[in-house]
Amino acid sequence: LRDNIRKLTPYSSARDEFKGEASILLDANENAFGSPLPVNYNRYPDPLQLNLKEKVNQIKGVPTEHIFVGNGSDEAIDLLLRAFCRPGIDNIIIVPPTYGMYEVSANINDVLIKRVPLTTEFQLDLNSIAETIDENSKIIFICSPNNPTGNSINRADIETLLNNFNGIVVVDEAYINFAKQRSFIQELTEYNNLVVLQTLSKAWGLAGLRIGMAFAARDIIDVLNKIKPPYNINEASQTLAIQALENVDEINTWIKTTVREREKLVKDLSTLPLIQYIYPSEANFILVKMTTPREIYKYLVELGIIVRDRSSVILCEGCLRITIGTPEENQQLLHALRTYPLVNG
Ligand code: PMP
Repeated sequence: LRDNIRKLTPYSSARDEFKGEASILLDANENAFGSPLPVNYNRYPDPLQLNLKEKVNQIKGVPTEHIFVGNGSDEAIDLLLRAFCRPGIDNIIIVPPTYGMYEVSANINDVLIKRVPLTTEFQLDLNSIAETIDENSKIIFICSPNNPTGNSINRADIETLLNNFNGIVVVDEAYINFAKQRSFIQELTEYNNLVVLQTLSKAWGLAGLRIGMAFAARDIIDVLNKIKPPYNINEASQTLAIQALENVDEINTWIKTTVREREKLVKDLSTLPLIQYIYPSEANFILVKMTTPREIYKYLVELGIIVRDRSSVILCEGCLRITIGTPEENQQLLHALRTYPLVNG
């Protein structure tokens, strides 16, 4: 933990001290009359999002003291860097190809980046990681299932890191709902250096609300709460997320449909001559190696279909990343690729 963070006196409000029921709130310079909306949002939201955390606890089985809620998991990534890495001195380890925000957030915070590429099977190169770690390495970011490759990272390898690395091991499980592998949430009691990230932006269908979670040992969660902006999750997002989390069955149905559609799309795409390889995926997207990725990308854009061009990313040369859409959207994508002009001559 950075020294300045250890010594920090966090922002406090009158409502931190006063936990009872108040009838007159004249402490926070809000508008006492209400809001010009059907629902009143004139009061500041609960800074610790307790009702939301209790709902998350019911679903995940993790006690609320071990849950941090961020404005997207991107906020948790940023706060972890700010809490544990001294600008210009400390470094993080990332394992490309992986999610881009670890690097961007580190750069914003002037934290050094050490890159240890995944193997050609998109797994951890534990020997190179061990050689790369130095006394200023504070965080290792592992994404599993990994974005953009779609595969899960071997569990035993992550455990090796947890057992041997002195700093924090972040396991980003944004896509865990689509995977066969178990979440690392169950291991929280085993490892005090484990941070598991999850999000409501993917399977839960709430990307627009911006809600991400970090699950970790209590002292790590306390640090994140200490340095976060006081009201990082707005009232509308808290209320709507609680409502949405009631609908586990609906989400499970969508997850099953997405996985089924993924397998169908893989099967259908693999018959097309412009597809060279489709990497096995445990996520809601597939990484597809193609003959002429840049041209195909532009062709799809012209048809109003946007995919992600990853063809210049290390180990993803020639690849586009395609999110699984609705069955109709997937059909349209397939139709577009079937009628790709270069193939048809
Ligand atoms: N982690 C991974 C691996 C992601 O792919 C994403 C979103 N693309 C995020 C985190 C960020 O999610 P959020 O919407 O919760 O900020």
